Order: sequence, then C-alpha cells, then structure tokens
Amino acid sequence: MPFLSRLVTKGVDCSVVCPMCEEANETLSHFVKGCPLLQSVVTISSIRDKFQQINIDSYGEFFAYIGKHWSKYERDLWMTISWMAWDARNRKVFE
Ligand SMILES: [Zn+2]
Repeated sequence: MPFLSRLVTKGVDCSVVCPMCEEANETLSHFVKGCPLLQSVVTISSIRDKFQQINIDSYGEFFAYIGKHWSKYERDLWMTISWMAWDARNRKVFE
C-alpha cells in the first residue's frame, strides 16, 4: 500500500500526516495498529485479541504470521476490514 510516508521516500512531494486522524504520520504500523479508523472496527471484531498480540514491521512478516497462526476466517475478516479502511481513506483523500 502506498502510505504517504513511503511516497515521500520515493520523492513525492506530499504531506505524511495520516489523512484519516491527522494525529500521526501515515505509515504501515500507524494504519494497522495506531489509527483510530481501523482500531474502531478491529476492537469490535472477533480478531481483536489475536490482533493485539502482533507487531507490524512489514507486510511480509505480518502475512507470514497470520498465515501460520490465524484461521482462514480470521484472515478473510482482516482483509475485509483493512480493505474497507483503505477504501474509506482513499475516498477521503481523492474525492
Ligand atoms: Zn490515522
């Protein structure tokens, strides 16, 4: 996902502040674990306890971990929640 902090490292002239909460730089770890947008949905889902146990440093590590420790249903739920959050973020940024 092209988080703003990553775009800046690639030379794109843009703000790195999270467009959803405007409380921190938009990074992978912020989007997944720090942003109130995603947290508000995860905390009412059935994956909240497993989700709180993981650290997010890279997508590779994250997907390797959930592939090994989460059920298919939990992975599908995570993908749905994160896609919906990313879609909401994109609508706010681009519309
Ligand atoms: Zn945020």
